[in-house]
Amino acid sequence: MFKKLLFKSLRFSGLPLLFREIVQRNKVTILLFHDISPEVARQTFTFLAKRYNIISINDFVQACHQNHQLPDKAMILTFDDGHLGNYGLLTVIRELNIPVSIYLCAGIMDTNRHYWFAFPHPEVSSSALKKVSNKKKLEILAAAGFHPEKEFPAPQAMNKGQIEAMKPFVSFQAHTMFHPILPQCDDSEANFEIAHAKRVLEEQFELEITAIAYPNGDYSERDIAIAREAGYQCGITVDYGFNTTKSDLFRLKRLSVNDTNNLDELSVKASGVWAFFKQIFK
Ligand SMILES: [Zn+2]
Repeated sequence: MFKKLLFKSLRFSGLPLLFREIVQRNKVTILLFHDISPEVARQTFTFLAKRYNIISINDFVQACHQNHQLPDKAMILTFDDGHLGNYGLLTVIRELNIPVSIYLCAGIMDTNRHYWFAFPHPEVSSSALKKVSNKKKLEILAAAGFHPEKEFPAPQAMNKGQIEAMKPFVSFQAHTMFHPILPQCDDSEANFEIAHAKRVLEEQFELEITAIAYPNGDYSERDIAIAREAGYQCGITVDYGFNTTKSDLFRLKRLSVNDTNNLDELSVKASGVWAFFKQIFK
């Protein structure tokens, strides 16, 4: 309730408008979503398309390489993980003709494997599991009956046919194999997660992979080096800020939008106002 009022007053304070017209005008804003319903997507895309120029990640990377100019208030919409529910957005994406990119966990797509962070561990929270080494995390999960390759009765991620159907309208990109916290991986794990994911998505799913979104937004210098070496052209974080064609392509900044149906919250978060205050009061 308090948050609702806070978003409403922030929205109508004029700050989001000010951010759009001043901060975002000559920048590229990247937004992060996960698993929104088709109804929320329709409302969200319609709202954003009225206020921003939605461009694709590929247009942006190309503009960086060729030093092209981009439209004012350019915005890129990204969806992390490859959730099954994303398939339901196809109709809206087609109808509204909105470019979106979806970042897939190559080891989970087209299987009944589950995302480790969605596994309800009885004692250890997923935020605690993000703080230990990848090996330790897998040990703790294994003791509770979860394995990255374990097949569950129902899928959590999209299958190959669904990806195939969306391919003409969506840019599919990489989000590692199994969504580890990359800085918690040793070198061989990081290599597998970053480089092998690109190969799987290209060879098994026949996708053209140029971008990686670092799981949880976490990355190290080593992970960037591996991504470059593997042939990615850009890497997307969740570091606060906006981008230009001069930005470091492997440290692209992104604003996290809660999967919300509240337009006040969307307005405040898409403008960067929310993340800006979070930075200050951190
Ligand atoms: Zn993710």
